[in-house]
Amino acid sequence: MLSFYDGFFLNLCVLIAALFVYKELVKKSSFEIQTVSTAIISGLLGGLLAAVLMRFNIATSTNSIIDLRIIPFMLVILYGNWLSTSITATLIILIRFMMGVSTYAFYNIIFILASWVIFCFCFKKIKNRWVSIIVMLTLSNIVYTVLNIILSEGKGLNILLISTYWIICILGGLIAVYMMDYLNETELIFKRNNKYAFTDPLTGLNNVRSFDLAFNKAKSKLEKSNESISIMILDIDHFKQVNDTYGHLEGDLVLKKLAAILKMSQDPKDIISRNGGEEFSVLLNDCDHKEAYEKADALRKVVENSFFAVKNGTITIHVTISIGITTYNDTTIEIDQLYNHADQALYAAKKSGRNKVCSYSQVIDPVSN
Ligand code: GH3
Ligand code: MG
Ligand code: MG
Repeated sequence: MLSFYDGFFLNLCVLIAALFVYKELVKKSSFEIQTVSTAIISGLLGGLLAAVLMRFNIATSTNSIIDLRIIPFMLVILYGNWLSTSITATLIILIRFMMGVSTYAFYNIIFILASWVIFCFCFKKIKNRWVSIIVMLTLSNIVYTVLNIILSEGKGLNILLISTYWIICILGGLIAVYMMDYLNETELIFKRNNKYAFTDPLTGLNNVRSFDLAFNKAKSKLEKSNESISIMILDIDHFKQVNDTYGHLEGDLVLKKLAAILKMSQDPKDIISRNGGEEFSVLLNDCDHKEAYEKADALRKVVENSFFAVKNGTITIHVTISIGITTYNDTTIEIDQLYNHADQALYAAKKSGRNKVCSYSQVIDPVSN
């Protein structure tokens, strides 16, 4: 037989475990942005957690039960919105009725509604988060105690039980909020690091690591199909002069604008990456050599005809790019040499005057091309 200390301890453990499960379940969706669907999910999960806590309730000598259902309710008020709060509140009320239609179940409605008003008020009015949690739970506990005094009909309260509830409830509330903040923060850090591990921070394009992943994926796909795959490597001509004339920061703006042009002209199948400095690559999935050449030349012309604004838009400059291309199953037979061959083609484009597209076929056989 569990003592009520054990019961409270069990409630606390369930609460902590459930918060981990909750964060796992909602990992994919960002709960900072409350959409209708995320609000519904968090409302349902709040209700579910309250139901689990009510399942592990501590039975008292009377018909009343005691548990930490108020904590998930407080969490949805703190982290959710009116919709999630309404859903959790409705569920807590319904579940209490399902456990038995009694005066206690009716008083539970008063308890939940009063706590709702108290939580919203404290949340808005008290700036210090921890103080507001202590105050809101204390006020909610006062409501709970008063309701129990009324319900006890003069039989007297189990003071030890109620005071233990007060302590565990406030302690549980503080632990739950601390954990939610901690889990939210670690998730945010994880997402940010994950993003920067695969994205170039300046342009938002893929970085070399994601290029490698995309290339390996394309390679394994090729083993099963007979598709062609092309690659273009492009590099801004005389970019150093842009930096030298207008400064490094203005050079960065040029890189950003070029990235935007690349994204705009992107086929959904293409993988665009910034490989470093002013060099970019486009992996053209399922694209033969002729098509790759046409795409590269079209891109070269778009860049040549674009305006790049520097110095707060007071000066517009033009830049050109040189592009090297090669195609697996055509100009390149060894897939692992694809990048290397495109790089050699780029070098040839630079050597032969810049603002050009050069195929690897021109590198191997410069005379016939
Ligand atoms: P080429 O036509 O032969 O490619 O000449 P280039 O001047 O473009 O090439 P070079 O390799 O001589 O110079 C590249 C310049 O790119 C030098 C470097 O400072 C600049 N660069 C590299 N990374 C960045 C960056 O992130 N931002 C800016 N603004 N400049 C960068
Ligand atoms: Mg360059
Ligand atoms: Mg370069």
